[in-house]
Amino acid sequence: MTRLTRHALPALILPALLTMAACAPATSPAPTPLSNDPAAVHERVLALDTHLDTPMHFNRPGWSIAERQTFASHLTHVDIPRMREGGLDGGFFVVYTSQGPVDAAGYAAAARHAESRLASVERILREQREAMTLATRADDAARIAATGRRISYISIENSYPLGESVAGLADWYARGVRMAGPVHSRDNQFADSATGQNRWGGLSPLGRQWVAEMNRLGMVIDGSHSSDAALREMMALSSTPVILSHSGFKAIFDHRRNVDDALAREVAAQGGVIHINSVFLSRFNNSAARAPLYDQFDDIEHLTPEQQRRLAADWASLDRTERVNEGDFDLFMRALFHCLEVVGVDHCGIGADWDGGGGVAGLDDVAALPRITAALLARGYSEEDVGKIWSGNILRVMRQVEATAARR
Ligand SMILES: [Zn+2]
Repeated sequence: MTRLTRHALPALILPALLTMAACAPATSPAPTPLSNDPAAVHERVLALDTHLDTPMHFNRPGWSIAERQTFASHLTHVDIPRMREGGLDGGFFVVYTSQGPVDAAGYAAAARHAESRLASVERILREQREAMTLATRADDAARIAATGRRISYISIENSYPLGESVAGLADWYARGVRMAGPVHSRDNQFADSATGQNRWGGLSPLGRQWVAEMNRLGMVIDGSHSSDAALREMMALSSTPVILSHSGFKAIFDHRRNVDDALAREVAAQGGVIHINSVFLSRFNNSAARAPLYDQFDDIEHLTPEQQRRLAADWASLDRTERVNEGDFDLFMRALFHCLEVVGVDHCGIGADWDGGGGVAGLDDVAALPRITAALLARGYSEEDVGKIWSGNILRVMRQVEATAARR
């Protein structure tokens, strides 16, 4: 048909076509077929990353999330221009607290730190209200995306600041937090860490209360950083699926932070989702030359703009002679494909640990995210599959968590 002009149609057919055209509702032209171009698919799907450590930069003097940066210039992976460029609609902005002493003074210092970081997220959301919006429910994501603004969920990495009570979870919930993990890189009052000393053999008694309170409030339980035993105990106790917001597979890189296939299948069997990390894909090269730079980086919010510039320059100069990790885009995709093969398309997502040590060659920052969609499509995954991986799965879990809390 496309080659025939209207004038070339045989005279007998033309009146029939005109009659058909007259019967068709004038207001519903035939839909234009959607483009299968990977870039177009990536734009159409709602893309969320479940672990954005960007708030560690929110209090940096002179820094702005509205400014287009590079890792080399600012040691960051995420800003609003790069989120737009990479089709990242939003994600979970993390309030992270490093693990200190498990005692009253440690709790007090941790609580002050977490408060400062949560307040910085709230401030950025106020300052950038034309560009970013707080999301607290699963259905908020599509509604906010339709406005063109970025979607900001808030999560807690390490519940250590709560001290010896779970009462503070309700305060976090009231301020919009919808996901939390109990522990980080060392055992604490709630749980054993994947990289800890197995203090409790899983969860502590307080950790079991923490699970019940998370369920009661309607918050997603994040098992990344928990020991295997703690993760299994959370899954046994929780009335909602447990997710891993930024984790990997031991089959790709045998590290305690990663899960084996059997544990991944248990997470999936309960309805959970494993969000693939770009850290722990390969050996981490914290060399004698790099270590002091990491020490400065961990405290970057207290560096002057000039000190920040010097740190970025020193980092870039060291990058020219040695790499922080041996990972690259293909290795990241191998990890994601492994997840898809082991637990299926309903149980994999993406949480690349941007601004928290993430980023590999070829997947250097969030501007590169369309490459992931292109690789999934090239492997034969459909647009529907891609949509589940990028956000559908985590939003499904959020809906379950919301429904379970509402029934109480
Ligand atoms: Zn982490």
